[in-house]
Amino acid sequence: MFADRLARVRAHMDDEGVDVLLLSVGADLPYFCGYEAMPLERLTMLVVPRDGDATLVVPHLEAPRVVERPDVFDLVTWRDGEDPIRLVVDRLPAGAGGPGGDVTAAIGDQAWAGFAVDLLAARPGLVLSRASTVTAPIRMVKDAAEVDVLRRAGAAVDRILADVQAGNVPLVGRSEADVAAEIARRIVDEGHHRVNFTIVASGPNAASPHHEAGDRVLRSGESVLFDIGGTMFGADGVGYCSDITRCVHLGEPPAEFAEAYEALHASQAAGVAAATVGTPCAEVDAVARRVLDDAGYGEFFVHRLGHGIGVEAHEHPNLVAGNDLPLAAGHAFSIEPGIYVADRWGMRLEDIVVATDDGPDPMNRIDHGLAVVDA
Ligand code: ZN
Ligand code: ZN
Repeated sequence: MFADRLARVRAHMDDEGVDVLLLSVGADLPYFCGYEAMPLERLTMLVVPRDGDATLVVPHLEAPRVVERPDVFDLVTWRDGEDPIRLVVDRLPAGAGGPGGDVTAAIGDQAWAGFAVDLLAARPGLVLSRASTVTAPIRMVKDAAEVDVLRRAGAAVDRILADVQAGNVPLVGRSEADVAAEIARRIVDEGHHRVNFTIVASGPNAASPHHEAGDRVLRSGESVLFDIGGTMFGADGVGYCSDITRCVHLGEPPAEFAEAYEALHASQAAGVAAATVGTPCAEVDAVARRVLDDAGYGEFFVHRLGHGIGVEAHEHPNLVAGNDLPLAAGHAFSIEPGIYVADRWGMRLEDIVVATDDGPDPMNRIDHGLAVVDA
């Protein structure tokens, strides 16, 4: 699998004129070689020449974490006091016109800037570009095994929020942070290896789309927005993400809130239905946005409709104005319109969806209505 992925990325490198791919901290590394770098200051780097064998450079003390895959990469370790940048530079291709000539390296978008600076200083003629140019086209299209993990991760967070919708999780009188901690435990209990986020936003706090759960106590007569997700490992130790948003109201909602939610619900359903193979990403965004525009909420929908998802919680493709990329079978992404009224309330409704030749395939299947929880 990893050898196949590297073969495919080399074809893209060929198309883009990239001589070598340099992957470090970030999701590209586990996707292409099954190893995830520790996000620390010591250098880990997979050096993938377009022509030639790949080498994984890792700190000696982290070598025990590496599952060796001789068909994918050679392992080279370095000890504290040695210069790991030199190990990478020594493995760069000669470059145009012979040794020391210009070399184009695509470096991981999330590799520490410090590594990039040090590489540029150590190798005159090195030209850097973003690795996503060659990696995103491959990562975007999920195969059946990847979709299977996305589906299992989606079902896991579905079970958690279905419990919330059913009123099985006490809410009134607890702080956002307390509820968020319980949900984080559930995310792991349901089979994820890692919690990525647990947004619990009550009342006016939900007007901030990325609110961080805090001390505010949940009260009767208010709404609560839950946006939760984690990473679930599939075969080969590569993880895939879940991401779902549902809102509940503690007691009967005011008419104004219920009406807005109806528009949100209609917008999200229209977005899912529009997410068919061949439809440009921007068009899916536009379809869902039009529903909110027509209902008078357009100015309160302040973000793109959705983001790709896979090894990362946010990856390509984005469902956003200006992205003319047509959806392809295997693209996985969120559909998550929102309405945010500052200082008053906010709401969002989110599913993960996979585009297939048979139509949009939602990974999240629980009720999309505004659940009214006794309070
Ligand atoms: Zn999302
Ligand atoms: Zn989300």
